Amino acid sequence: MFQTPQEVLNYIREQDIKIIDLKFIDTPGIWQHCSFYRDLIDESAFDEGVAFDGSSIRGWKAINESDMSMVPDPTTAWIDPFMAEKTLSMICSIKEPRTGEWYSRDPRTIAQKSLDYLIASGLGDMAFIGPEAEFFVFDDVRFDQTENTGYYYVDSVEGRWNSGKQEPGGNLGYKPGYKQGYFPVAPTDTLQDMRTEMLLTMADCGVPIEKHHHEVATGGQNELGIRFAPLVQAADYLMTYKYVIKNVAKKYGKSVTFMPKPLFNDNGSGMHTHQSIWKDGQPTFAGNEYANLSKSALHYIGGLLKHAPALLAITNPTTNSYKRLVPGFEAPVNLAYSQGNRSASIRIPLSGPNPKAKRMEFRCPDATCNPYLAFAAMLCAGIDGIKNQIDPGDPLDVDIYDLSPEELAKVPSTPGSLLDALKALEADHEFLTAGGVFTEDFITSWIEYKLDNEVNPMRLRPHPYEFALYYDC
Ligand code: GLU
Ligand code: MG
Ligand code: MG
Repeated sequence: MFQTPQEVLNYIREQDIKIIDLKFIDTPGIWQHCSFYRDLIDESAFDEGVAFDGSSIRGWKAINESDMSMVPDPTTAWIDPFMAEKTLSMICSIKEPRTGEWYSRDPRTIAQKSLDYLIASGLGDMAFIGPEAEFFVFDDVRFDQTENTGYYYVDSVEGRWNSGKQEPGGNLGYKPGYKQGYFPVAPTDTLQDMRTEMLLTMADCGVPIEKHHHEVATGGQNELGIRFAPLVQAADYLMTYKYVIKNVAKKYGKSVTFMPKPLFNDNGSGMHTHQSIWKDGQPTFAGNEYANLSKSALHYIGGLLKHAPALLAITNPTTNSYKRLVPGFEAPVNLAYSQGNRSASIRIPLSGPNPKAKRMEFRCPDATCNPYLAFAAMLCAGIDGIKNQIDPGDPLDVDIYDLSPEELAKVPSTPGSLLDALKALEADHEFLTAGGVFTEDFITSWIEYKLDNEVNPMRLRPHPYEFALYYDC
């Protein structure tokens, strides 16, 4: 839409826009924002940035060194469709005002650095990323936020929610059967109009759109398709995707969650991520090896598989992430690759004869990740694979769920918990710091943040299901 600061500033004047909303991402992956009267945004805002207090941003600075600057990217400007006053939104990266340098813990800066590393390595000049984030729409969500419990409301000891479909007028009988949400037409699919509005609204925000559909789970699980994009832009688009989906759902009186496993014993929500590297305008992943991949694509896969236990601490960064990574729900459990096989954690989609469509799909990630960090970390693992010519082993062209226990024992699996993944990250993160993409400081603070705010608080709280198991001991 816009390329330069001047184009944005002209547009603000021509359209008489009075409010500029600047958005940036915190470390766990939630958009933060501050709205400015237009006179405060001039040429210098696009260079030095606009000052704010970074001390209250999760995972950032201490209070004694809290001054930060947010620097809007003019290419991300769009009119925010959810604000009453016509408001121009822009996505920012973060600078340290004292030194004028990009902030080393800013996730968008880290994503940019992963591309700098790719270029410096000589292996490519662009990484394309195509995420597929699934989500649930619920009618009613209740949290018990008291200090003592902190768990969400559940209506049975099985931990299964009464999750929606409480249509006015009662149950009309049009319900997707168990695992049959993919994808009967209306009236069983009740969310068509909402999804269409979500898709068209994100197009208005500059996201290149493709399709939408219901997903497999019993009711209320959905996916919208957006086009792949250069790495940083793909993360910007994913944030816009989540923002639009949540806000359109709110207009319909519904609530959205991207948490990977909200329903016990039904399909969870993943964020499969398609990836490819290009150099001089040419795809580098197409070739004459297995599944028409190139040698470097196989090594990239080797890097992802080798570092997966550590990588998942960033791509699957919540305690809930590991409730999805279990057999039987189309989620990957084993670290293997295959053409077409959806039970492997890396799938090579059948992409036809056009080499430009050649890519691999990493099926582990989920949308609780910070996309800037996740895309950067996956690229680092892939670059490490190519640089060190890591052999991915033989492909696994069987349904992994059908393997015998002896055969399965030979296939490594995904970590069983966030704690396991964080321990793996502690032991294996040189692939992330090697090119200066992630700093040691970032890795240490990430592990500490996740332990202190998520792993330990979960471990300390009695779980509802423990009452079913142990109340009558
Ligand atoms: N929901 C599945 C997952 O957790 C993926 C279903 C699909 O292949 O789209 O990864
Ligand atoms: Mg899907
Ligand atoms: Mg997929």
